[in-house]
Amino acid sequence: MNKNCSIVMDLLPLYVDDICRNETVSFIEEHINGCDTCQMELDSLKEDIAVFPSEKNDIKRIENLSKDIKKRRLDSFFKGLMISSLIFAIGAFVSYQRADVYLLEDGTLVEPFYLIPLGYLAGLVFFISAVVNLIRRKR
Ligand SMILES: [Zn+2]
Repeated sequence: MNKNCSIVMDLLPLYVDDICRNETVSFIEEHINGCDTCQMELDSLKEDIAVFPSEKNDIKRIENLSKDIKKRRLDSFFKGLMISSLIFAIGAFVSYQRADVYLLEDGTLVEPFYLIPLGYLAGLVFFISAVVNLIRRKR
């Protein structure tokens, strides 16, 4: 093995990854054409790389994983929204039923009326999030 072989073998991984300068590429190719040892080394390097999944596959897998995580995060959000709006709606109606109702001296009825629209609003949010959950589950 001469000195050039040693240099070429050190550079072969960079050559295979296609990150050498043009002068280096032509030096390596010129040497490989006349050197069986380095040619064999290059072939075995290419085989090693073919065994590993390509970077594109890795990127695809990471993208799929990231989509999956986003989907699960949204699923959790809608489930949490469904449960908390149901609890809030029940709480609003129950506290309206249990609230003290009394008349002021001028005849004004004092009752926590605001709980009624809040309860219906929470019920609406529950209904919408339940529908969204059903649609997302079917997909
Ligand atoms: Zn060589």
